[in-house]
Amino acid sequence: MRLSPVAKSACKMSQKCQEGTGLLDSGVGKAARTTGGLVTALSWVSAQWVTRNSSAVSSGFWGMWRLALLLCCVQSPLLQAVGDYDLVIHGGRVIDPETNLDAVRSVGIRNGRIEAISEAALVGRERLDASGLVVAPGFINLHSHSVAAPGYRLELLDGVTTVLELEAGRFPVPRREHATNATALTHYGASVGHAWIRMSVIDPEGLREVARSGKVDMSGPAFTQVASDDQREQIETLIAREIAAGGLGIGFLLDYMASAVDEAERDMVFRVAAQYGVPVFAHVRRGIDGDPAGLDEIIAAAERAGASAHICHINASAMSGVSVWLDKIDAARARGVDVTTEMFPWTAGSALISSDVFSRDWRRIFSIDYGDVQWAETGEWLTEETFERYQQERPDGQTMHHYIREEWNRLAIERPHVMVASDAMPLTSYDRKVVPNGAGTSARILGQYVREEQLLTLSDALARLSLLPARRLESFAPAFARKGRLQLGADADIVVFDADTIGARASYLEPFAPAAGLRAVVVGGAVAAHDGELMAEAYGGALITASP
Ligand SMILES: [Zn+2]
Repeated sequence: MRLSPVAKSACKMSQKCQEGTGLLDSGVGKAARTTGGLVTALSWVSAQWVTRNSSAVSSGFWGMWRLALLLCCVQSPLLQAVGDYDLVIHGGRVIDPETNLDAVRSVGIRNGRIEAISEAALVGRERLDASGLVVAPGFINLHSHSVAAPGYRLELLDGVTTVLELEAGRFPVPRREHATNATALTHYGASVGHAWIRMSVIDPEGLREVARSGKVDMSGPAFTQVASDDQREQIETLIAREIAAGGLGIGFLLDYMASAVDEAERDMVFRVAAQYGVPVFAHVRRGIDGDPAGLDEIIAAAERAGASAHICHINASAMSGVSVWLDKIDAARARGVDVTTEMFPWTAGSALISSDVFSRDWRRIFSIDYGDVQWAETGEWLTEETFERYQQERPDGQTMHHYIREEWNRLAIERPHVMVASDAMPLTSYDRKVVPNGAGTSARILGQYVREEQLLTLSDALARLSLLPARRLESFAPAFARKGRLQLGADADIVVFDADTIGARASYLEPFAPAAGLRAVVVGGAVAAHDGELMAEAYGGALITASP
């Protein structure tokens, strides 16, 4: 792939590249990463996220804008010859999972939007030659715990252009009013974190400690103590306030507070969700391997309240019961309950060693033993003795517990409505190992499940990675009506990859290896990554919120 003049401008900065090769000096990426790490970490702490575009575009305005754009493009064929596109992605196999377009086209981008999809060649100031490559909508990751540049970088290099923290959520949610310029590697957004609100009400000192240390001790009172009526009312008020501030639904970590959240609190969460028309993103209470009681609880609560529910990582929660769980979801959907789900194509879970997950009979629940648990920092496989010692001495330590079977993942991805989301762990540096989900989820779906095993078509896989997540969110966050599609007027969030070579290189031993075969990632109209390196033009990401 030839890349110009983006590559040239980046090369000028590094003073080291060979013009015309399209290869970038890695120093550019390094400089960008270092600066970005600082900016991103500080931004999260101070909630000073800034954005280039207002995300709170009403659907009415968007509809009019889109119509005007369509008319403009239809009536002005000369536009293509004028050559004033900011970027042209030339001659790739353009796939749009919504309209089923799958043909060689050139894509013209201006002001961050797709303004032409043409059989004829287009002229622009920058040109990406995508001959022989797939050009598709950028991926939308509904479930990521990335908090800083190292994690966002991995996701970008896996084709993710929108990184969302919807399972655990945030408190307070990032505010629109603080978002005035683009500084993030990808678009980003968060649900309202019920757990953090619960902490602020029941254990405010614990929450301050999280803010100070960045570490969460899930054995504290916020995760173990039932709320009083007064505390529940305070939690409700804060959830409602944060949804009004733009939170993308409610993140509900029920499994991590299995004994603490009673029926009244659970039903309150679904009542508020229904009131505001946003989904509850739930990590369901887990039973013994395969037991669907936790799923039944969420579907029933959503149905009673008239709320929407999204079941996080169904493969990890259902385990050997994945087919039964998916049958139940299908049945609920058939009777009109708005329930969706997602999976990740990996085989281990991540949890703090102090979390409630390990306070129960976890060996029976997961059908595993101490020897199936890895200490993430070092990759060390634990024994009963080391497990208990770390639990005492390092409650903030991350583990990887290997309990998911590949066959469960295949059963999940074969259902047509199941989305893909990575469940990437928080990552502030590459010193500490975590599960490889953040670096290779999309690539593993496209390489292993599409190309090697042919479990689903390429277009279908792209829908699970982009269109379906956009549809899950667009009813209350209209910015998503412009994402997940490769269509005129859509946001120019685009991935360019080689369908013959795309694949995950990340593994449990090498969790940060970027995907193979991913050639370019465009965020907000600018080439943010190219052949595994960040570009000088990275940081085009914007905050996405729900409409007010
Ligand atoms: Zn989870």
